[in-house]
Amino acid sequence: MVELIKIISKTFDSNCYVIQDKKIALIDTGSGLSSDIVEQISTRVDINTIDMIINTHGHADHCGGNGHFSRFNIKCLAHKNDVAEMESGRFYGTSSMFGRNIPIRVDVALQGGDKIDLGGTVLEVIHTPGHTPGSICLYERDAGFLVSGDTLFSGGNFGRTDIGGNELEMVSSLEILSNLDFDLLLPGHTNVVTNGQKFAKMAFRYAKEFLDED
Ligand SMILES: [Zn+2]
Repeated sequence: MVELIKIISKTFDSNCYVIQDKKIALIDTGSGLSSDIVEQISTRVDINTIDMIINTHGHADHCGGNGHFSRFNIKCLAHKNDVAEMESGRFYGTSSMFGRNIPIRVDVALQGGDKIDLGGTVLEVIHTPGHTPGSICLYERDAGFLVSGDTLFSGGNFGRTDIGGNELEMVSSLEILSNLDFDLLLPGHTNVVTNGQKFAKMAFRYAKEFLDED
């Protein structure tokens, strides 16, 4: 039985999610500039029981906090296309935006179609480039939720394409999301909402109109 723990950021840090079944995954870790992310999570789950950190993409506000968990020996998973920017500490230029340039080690390079089995709960890796080349969404088909990183937000909003991204890829990625059947949307910033697929369809429409017009 899946349990979702949502740590919704009130700052520029990303949201963090803990997805708990027989195995436990932590999705994104914030910038790491406020070290209390470890404290915040440890009030909800024993950090020693976390099996993996999955980063939705290689921007500093999503993976900069990974280092705070290094003493717990948790393996880190991220899409192969963002590994170089994470391991260099450049984070597509967001290292200077956030004042965070500590390299992040990636243990497992993911690709689209990979399935991360937490013991019943299966997170399907959907490769959604556009915000960064290695942006991913994590889709749980049976439970009907999508962790969308900075690709899709509520209200039909979508992520910036000017910090390592690509407009045409964003449009294609939103089209993929608009065809997934899901209700609960867990975005990288702002609140968790229902009607996720509706927002994906809106975002695809807007992105096609604004980004793909030439
Ligand atoms: Zn981002």
